[in-house]
Amino acid sequence: MRYRWLLFDADGTLFDYDGAEASALERTLAGEGRATDAAARAAYHRINAALWKQLEGGTVDAATLRTRRFELLFAELDIPCAAARTASERYLVELAACARLLPGAEEVVRELAASTRMAIVTNGLADVQRPRFARSSIADLFELLTISDELGIAKPDPRILDVTLEALGSPPKDEVLMIGDSLTSDVQGGVNAGVDTCWLAPNGDRPPEAPLPTWVIRSLAELPAIVSGARGRAGAREGAADPVPRVPEC
Ligand SMILES: [Mg+2]
Repeated sequence: MRYRWLLFDADGTLFDYDGAEASALERTLAGEGRATDAAARAAYHRINAALWKQLEGGTVDAATLRTRRFELLFAELDIPCAAARTASERYLVELAACARLLPGAEEVVRELAASTRMAIVTNGLADVQRPRFARSSIADLFELLTISDELGIAKPDPRILDVTLEALGSPPKDEVLMIGDSLTSDVQGGVNAGVDTCWLAPNGDRPPEAPLPTWVIRSLAELPAIVSGARGRAGAREGAADPVPRVPEC
């Protein structure tokens, strides 16, 4: 085995966050008597993504993020901002109820559970992530669920991975792989913590120069071959649509 300890991101990597978000938003706006159209979905997505980037950068905290995203959304949709706090609470309840996994995720983690020790490290809100994880069909396969909200530390801060690895018994870092769909939180977090990284890029996007993932995959189904060592280092980033050009040696 090349890697014996696997750290997974949750949303967009194992869990269908886009589907859960769309469903929770629709139910939340319905509570305000509003239908959710494409413009409302796009506005929420843009506002929420910007706030999570700020949270990654440490310029906003989770408590502020929860209501601020609805205050900003309601301002755009001409819904009274006074309703934002209640809407935020309803949204979190709806989101927590949605534990749908991405296609193929369960099969892959079940296979990997036989030969590795696994944890989830997520930048998320505890009252959303704990119930979603507990409801999911893969909860028993993971030793640990580390949530940024509970520690006050978010990926890419390496301390969130350090805390997780310490709880797993401080394994050798060269036997640890961080897997996730975000370059800024998962890959950068893994790089910062000194472990190998695997970037899940379902659309075949090309990785940037920095942070450069150790591996690029289009589907989780590629993961067992990387973890076992069956896929060689030469093909580390062959999953990208446009392979990273090799710098000629002088
Ligand atoms: Mg993710």
